[in-house]
Formats: sequence, structure tokens, C-alpha cells
Amino acid sequence: MDWFKRKKQVIFPVEKKDVPDGLWMKCDGCGAILYKKELEQKMYVCPECNQHFRIGSDTYIKILFDEGSFKETNAKVASADPLNFTDVKSYKDKYLGTVKKTGLNEAVITGTAKLNKQSVVAALMDFRFMGGSMGSVVGEKIGRAIDLAYKKNQPLIILSASGGARMHEGVLSLMQMAKTSSKLARLDQKGIPYISILTNPTTGGTTASYAMLGDINIAEPGALIGFAGPRVIKQTIGQDLPIGFQRSEFVRDHGFLDIIAHRHELKERISGILKFYAHKNPLK
Ligand SMILES: [Zn+2]
Repeated sequence: MDWFKRKKQVIFPVEKKDVPDGLWMKCDGCGAILYKKELEQKMYVCPECNQHFRIGSDTYIKILFDEGSFKETNAKVASADPLNFTDVKSYKDKYLGTVKKTGLNEAVITGTAKLNKQSVVAALMDFRFMGGSMGSVVGEKIGRAIDLAYKKNQPLIILSASGGARMHEGVLSLMQMAKTSSKLARLDQKGIPYISILTNPTTGGTTASYAMLGDINIAEPGALIGFAGPRVIKQTIGQDLPIGFQRSEFVRDHGFLDIIAHRHELKERISGILKFYAHKNPLK
């Protein structure tokens, strides 16, 4: 009886295939190897596990708005570094390096656009630019977008992707909270709808400033949404946090979100909301 006798294994050397760089990527949700071209067609959502990959504002513009309808506003507003801030690197160098690396001018792009033929004013944050941090330029551009929506009587859409306030600008970045929320209150008094889209991640000062102030707060599945990070909260309260804490589904179940929309349905859901508001309160 030699049932348990190991068979001699011959190990063949595995031939390494050259995968052209950048054609494939690994899903950090399920580990599947995905073909980038296919992933692009699927709006950067993993076909295996539904993981929503982080994407830039340029991709969201393509997903949300009618082709070629987005017209940028206030493109040239740039930060002045009034504190002359330096940590490992000077803020100025870091800022200029990020502009060069990303091709973006700031962590937000604002403009006017059409969403299923409905005119809107939009602001889209971009995590690639210093973690989507909200500095004085981000606050100012969002403030101007709110003013434009007010002036044009058009719905406002803000898409957030942000780690919070920009530390390099100290209290100046925190002051954006008062500016953006007071302007949103004025927009609300005029009865103009504001739809806030929360993507992964939306945290810190951005959550506290405008991301949670939408008439409708709509998030992508599985997005990290919160104010302080889970580690800080755990240390403060001295307790373990529940599973799924600060993810879209948890935040919705606790009453802070209205809708979780799959990226494939995001445009249609927003379009439906805009139609509802137009019917309820026709804008001029
Ligand atoms: Zn996956």
C-alpha cells in the first residue's frame, strides 16, 4: 500500500511571458487580472467583483456629461502660497511638480455642461492632485461655481474625491468651509438643486464643507466617506469599529446618504433627479 507515497514531481521551469507594461492591471478588490482596454469600456468597474476604481475628473466628465458639452470655467485660478509653507519639500515645489505630473491646474475642475441635454454647473474634484486636498483655490473655484449656478438658475453638481483640507495652507483651507457652505445656503434659498456625488474617498474638511450638504447626496458603492479616519476614531473611543465602517453602504444605512449608485447608472440616476426637480420647481 503506497497510497500516501508522494509521486515524484518534475518541476518545469515556467517560461516568463513578457506582458507589455501598462496593458493589464490587478484588481485590488478581488485580485483578478484585468485588461485595461476592457476596464475602460466598463467605466473602470471590475467585472468580477464590482470594485469601483479611482478615476480622474477627466474620466468623470466623459461618464457624466453629454459629449463635448463640458466648458471649463476659471481654469487659471492658482494658489499663491501665502504661508511660504515647507515640510519635506516646499509647498511651491510640490504644487508645481503635481501640475507637471498630472497636467491638472488644481484639485478641482469647474465648468458648465449638459447632462442628458439638461444644463448644469459642475465642479469635479481630482484625487490625483495632492490627494484632492481642498485649499483656497479649490474653495474659491467651488464658490464661483455655486455663484454661477445661482446666476444662471441651473442645478449644481459637485463630485468629491478628497482626503480633506490642504494642510499646506493652514487655516486658509479651513476658511473654505464657511465660504462654500454659506454660498450653498444662498443657492438653497433660491430653490436651486445641488446634487453631491461622493466618490472614494470623501473625507475630512471636504465632507464637512460641501460634500454632505447636497439636496441629494449620492455615492458610489464601497466609497470611504467620513470626517476623521477610522484609526483616529478607534484611538479616541477605545473601541473596535464595526465591519464596513465609513463605507457608502454603512453611511447610507445610518442616514447620511440618499442613494448609492453603481457607476454605470450614475448619469441616469442624476438625470432622473434633475427631471424631478425641474418638474417640482421649474427653473427659468
Ligand atoms: Zn475585482
